[in-house]
Amino acid sequence: MVKRAFAALLCLVNGLLITVNVWAENAANRVNHAVILQYHHIATDTPASTSLSPKVFAQHLDILKQEGYTVWPLPKLVRALQSDQLIPDRTVVITFDDAYDDIVLQAAPMLKKHGFPFTVFVSTDFVDRRQPGYMTWDQLRSLKKQGATLANHTRSHLHLLRRPEDVGQKQWLQTVREEIDGAEQRIEDETGEHWRYFAYPYGEADEALIKAVTAWGYLGFGQQSGAVNKSLLRSGMAPRFPFNQSYKDLADFRIKASSMPLPLLKESFPGWVFEDAVKPELKLTLAPHRGKLSCYASGQGSVPIQSLSDNLFMVQVDKPIPVGRSRYNCTLPVAGQPGRYHWHSRMWIRKRDDGSWYPEP
Ligand SMILES: [Zn+2]
Repeated sequence: MVKRAFAALLCLVNGLLITVNVWAENAANRVNHAVILQYHHIATDTPASTSLSPKVFAQHLDILKQEGYTVWPLPKLVRALQSDQLIPDRTVVITFDDAYDDIVLQAAPMLKKHGFPFTVFVSTDFVDRRQPGYMTWDQLRSLKKQGATLANHTRSHLHLLRRPEDVGQKQWLQTVREEIDGAEQRIEDETGEHWRYFAYPYGEADEALIKAVTAWGYLGFGQQSGAVNKSLLRSGMAPRFPFNQSYKDLADFRIKASSMPLPLLKESFPGWVFEDAVKPELKLTLAPHRGKLSCYASGQGSVPIQSLSDNLFMVQVDKPIPVGRSRYNCTLPVAGQPGRYHWHSRMWIRKRDDGSWYPEP
């Protein structure tokens, strides 16, 4: 009996040593990329498309704690990427959009328990109006005391691409700028936070809008999935992995949290917003790599990939993309690290056939 207990103890110690060794190896491994996680509600009684249950969120945090991840505040990651400082492998940043009150009620205590920093992108009009379901400025200030970063998500959470027909492009950009500068000012007035980090409402943007927002001095964050590096950050709409009840599978979370950017040298595509039944051609030029590139499209599964040369790939769906927001997600296995993938996503926006905008689900 004693012998068996001793053997069990030895196994446990060995297991712990192996875990510690793996962890130490990861900690020593420095890289130039990270992953930004995006959540909205952490609740069970809010819309499924923007909610993750507190139970699954707690599981995400446990995985980050137990499986060798480093959780950084967003400003630390931005600084590191911008100044080419190396980052511990498996570093993630946690972000929440919209400033729903379940973040202060449900998510913040769990994050505090783990000592994890996080960012909230705030749409300030809802807070100013004290709209039920949103945090108050007092609650946001309490999060700041807990170490949260408070950032910009416009004043009214408008669709930035939906310019009314009777409004000119210049006037519309002025409206958008007032929305973004106005939110930045309200956040600074109420909390002293002033980062000029901006999350695009609905993750929607096009090239002209990203260019304008960047020229106004903001660093943009999107909702197209994928890991982030310096060039993706500089693209003006850094990728983030969105999570909701449809992505509650923990194996999926592990793949996303541990993902790396594609070794992308060049990307070309026909546009951002479409008004007809298109099958967009995405061309990806990759650095020399091992493993096979796979791409998937929303609602269509695996997408055919044509290899135009050793490192140039053309990705194109068989059937037109659906009306609304959809994506091509491309992955490539990480050489020598089973279970890890390079991940890159391209978002498409297709209006309805009569040129009108689709309703939000
Ligand atoms: Zn939002």
